[in-house]
Amino acid sequence: MSTYRDFTLQRALGSARAGGAPIGSGRPTVLRTVGTRERRSLLTAPRVPTVGIDIGGTKVMAGVVDADGNILERVRTETPDKSKSPKVVEDTIVELVLDLSDRHDVHAVGIGAAGWVDADRNRVLFAPHLSWRNEPLRDRLSGRLSVPVLVDNDANTAAWAEWRFGAGRGEDHLVMITLGTGIGGAILEDGQVKRGKYGVAGEFGHMQVVPGGHRCPCGNRGCWEQYSSGNALVREARELAAADSPVAYGIIERVKGNIPDITGPLITELAREGDAMCVELLQDIGQWLGVGIANLAAALDPSCFVIGGGVSAADDLLIAPARDAFRRHLTGRGYRPEARIARAQLGPEAGMVGAADLARLVARRFRRAKRRRVERYERYERYAESRRSSREAL
Ligand SMILES: [Zn+2]
Repeated sequence: MSTYRDFTLQRALGSARAGGAPIGSGRPTVLRTVGTRERRSLLTAPRVPTVGIDIGGTKVMAGVVDADGNILERVRTETPDKSKSPKVVEDTIVELVLDLSDRHDVHAVGIGAAGWVDADRNRVLFAPHLSWRNEPLRDRLSGRLSVPVLVDNDANTAAWAEWRFGAGRGEDHLVMITLGTGIGGAILEDGQVKRGKYGVAGEFGHMQVVPGGHRCPCGNRGCWEQYSSGNALVREARELAAADSPVAYGIIERVKGNIPDITGPLITELAREGDAMCVELLQDIGQWLGVGIANLAAALDPSCFVIGGGVSAADDLLIAPARDAFRRHLTGRGYRPEARIARAQLGPEAGMVGAADLARLVARRFRRAKRRRVERYERYERYAESRRSSREAL
């Protein structure tokens, strides 16, 4: 084990030894310079393919992405259950990277994680869907993979992708809002992700919009995501269905009376077919979205808001009411330029593409043969480990 470790430390990255200088080198390694600022600008980053990984609540998606944002190959798997140890999630990530590196040259790995990532982008401080608590993910992974690793919040990586290749191209002040089960967000200014001093900027979902309103799992009441998110949409629809409201007959019929079967995508589908209740529910969500956007415009004054996440699939059924409410609530309306509100273009792959593209900022060109050797070590190491544990189990 120690031989292998030394090998990866010296040859590959040397980041596992926190704070120490890398062995046999007077220069700091690539990874140690990845702090509050990327080492390179995207203009000088090498045009090499990298792997992006998006770790969401239910799926882990990994893909090889080229310098123009094209996905060359993608693979996906289930997110390990919250009860599993951080090691299991790590194994899943390594597995996916090794699988892809069988067929592609991989020069760096970027990870977009649904959780709070610290300002050094090493530790995941907290992830609601995983067992990570103050987990040094970057160091752990770069100790095992032979290429540079970058970790960031998934909303940040999605915003980066939309700015580079999607709906936010050419914008120098951009705010992204992702409407999934909750609300995620990110701020980009002059081509830099604004992460805040401690790395957790952009948690727009927990701004209070209704004093004393709905209770939020975060512990407060009246958070924005309690009114404008996939969860809010489903909660309202189920409430109406459970009360056997006449407006809900359409959706009750569709789920054959089984209220837990009511989901966000189903509501969107029915709204497209013209179901009045579903249209109205999306309007409500959209209006609250517009109110929150007006608040964000008052604080940040960006030129563009990009709306992504699963709920944005409802497109104009959601975004048109959001634009209306935004105009009605914007402070100084009529006397200031209004930000554009655009739907995200890259879909569910944005987080993965952005993670890969951010990873190019720390990528190094690798000679294939050397990388292969490290991968074989990794495989052997895991094989030996599984043999050991199965023997212990006997
Ligand atoms: Zn909250």
